[in-house]
Amino acid sequence: MAVPLLDLKAQHATIRDEVLAAAMSVIDGQTFILGEPVGQLECAVAGLSGTRYAVGCANGTDALLIALRALGVGHGDEVVTTPFTFFATAGAIHNVGARPVFVDIAPTTYNIVPDGVASAMSSRTKAVIAVDLFGQMAPIEAIAAVARDVPVIEDAAQSIGARRRVEDRWVMAGEAATIGTFSFFPSKNLGGWGDGGMMVTQNEALFEAMSKLRTHGSRRTYYHEMVGYNSRLDTLQAAVLLAKLPHLDTWSAARRENAAFYDGAFADVAEIGCPVIDPRNESIFNQYTIRVPKRDALQAHLKDAGIGTSVYYPLPLHLQPCFAYLGYQEGQCPEAERASREVLSLPIYPELSRTQLEEVASAVRAFFGR
Ligand SMILES: *Cc1c(COP(=O)(O)O)cnc(C)c1O
Repeated sequence: MAVPLLDLKAQHATIRDEVLAAAMSVIDGQTFILGEPVGQLECAVAGLSGTRYAVGCANGTDALLIALRALGVGHGDEVVTTPFTFFATAGAIHNVGARPVFVDIAPTTYNIVPDGVASAMSSRTKAVIAVDLFGQMAPIEAIAAVARDVPVIEDAAQSIGARRRVEDRWVMAGEAATIGTFSFFPSKNLGGWGDGGMMVTQNEALFEAMSKLRTHGSRRTYYHEMVGYNSRLDTLQAAVLLAKLPHLDTWSAARRENAAFYDGAFADVAEIGCPVIDPRNESIFNQYTIRVPKRDALQAHLKDAGIGTSVYYPLPLHLQPCFAYLGYQEGQCPEAERASREVLSLPIYPELSRTQLEEVASAVRAFFGR
């Protein structure tokens, strides 16, 4: 039987009635723009992420764009970030007129390291964007420490509900940064029926600025203090997400169990590098990403066996054609480059059955002759 990389229909089948009822109440009320569920979801996500304020927006890419704008980042500024992330992280930096400065990643967690951030900072650095990749948080407290008074944006698009032990306390994804950002793209752990995003912060002034920026820079209709965007979170999406939110912990726990199954199944296969979770972190496993030699051959072998996989990410951002103007060469972020050749993400979604997990594991093992 085929095992897809992600099966959204399987999840939908378990919550269909609740989500349809929530969506239907928006449809019956016809309050499609900034209706009540938007504020309710903002409260819930602020609560979940341990922050005081949350602002919904159209998608996770806009969340980064609006965060950068709220911090006043623009032309001539530099923003230090990772080359091993979804394109949006660096695209947002470019689109506010600033220059991405890429620092290499840790070969274990694939997240940026504080020392790298420290050495990449200059007098032009206006922000740092750390990404919580694949479901586990970057060392956000250490990154904030080296950034000193430079604000830190935490791109937690893949990591809503992830947490990290800092000085005997759990810190939630988004909590310790100047601004945290989330995406509700359908493939994230909390996914909507389309696009959606959110920014969170502890800072009231930034909350005010982001609230304005998402509605054309205005608080009072038709009076504009700044030029912003049309980037609201749809009421319909907010209602769907509110209905799904109570299940998030269960889903993320099921992903962790699936990850533990694979860890066990691959323990005796020396060629497979299983995901390394920092002992201070609790991952939500948005992806289960192994690293292997002959990655492309393994991917082809799994495809023939009917198993869906994906390479996140095949070309690091410092080598993307659109960023050629930045002047990076191959060899400048060696760990990101090596990761891009070796990583492969396997099906990890919560609804995977034991049989499906076994099927994936034995197909992977068979490739290595086990
Ligand atoms: C998904 C994702 C985004 C963008 O989110 P969208 O909602 O698709 O715009 C940004 N950063 C990372 C790391 C992501 O995984």
